[in-house]
Amino acid sequence: MNAYEDCFQKAMILSWQKVIGSERSQFPSILQNSVDTHVRFAVQCHSPKMNECLFCRIIKGEIPSKIVFRNEFVLAFHDINPQAPVHLLVVPIKHVENLKDPKASDSSLLVPVFNAIREISDSFPISKGFRVVVNCGREGGQTVDHLHFHLLGGRPMSWPPG
Ligand code: 5GP
Ligand code: ZN
Repeated sequence: MNAYEDCFQKAMILSWQKVIGSERSQFPSILQNSVDTHVRFAVQCHSPKMNECLFCRIIKGEIPSKIVFRNEFVLAFHDINPQAPVHLLVVPIKHVENLKDPKASDSSLLVPVFNAIREISDSFPISKGFRVVVNCGREGGQTVDHLHFHLLGGRPMSWPPG
């Protein structure tokens, strides 16, 4: 951890301790250390470690996620901010920035992703249909720079998308 990250984590821990300050006293004293440990853990997980990709950290298990599928090439998990009753993110294990990244042309990258999507879609109540979305670049709506496929379903989809 560099000095910036160290400072950032300390500031986050202090501000979270302020936020939960009043609630903290409601925990029995024997649990208060455990509350503090959880705060430190949550802050570490969400600190912007320089050069560390969010989805790579989810793949490594450093950030918790609700995983629904994993094999050698692909991880799929629930989106933290779902836009439909089913909203999963299907992510190649290998770090590839987006569809324009030359590494994305490797067929051994995209074929497993689509096979995973086909397999996963059988396990969710989306037999009437679903949508797969890939945002590419800032104007394409991409906010996390690790190639990912949104798998959305469980409601009728409108067109055109916003
Ligand atoms: P994008 O906007 O890049 O196409 O999609 C990024 C997606 O990642 C968003 O739908 C956002 O809700 C989701 N996301 C951002 N941070 C996290 C996180 O920490 N965990 C999970 N599960 N999803 C996240
Ligand atoms: Zn990554």
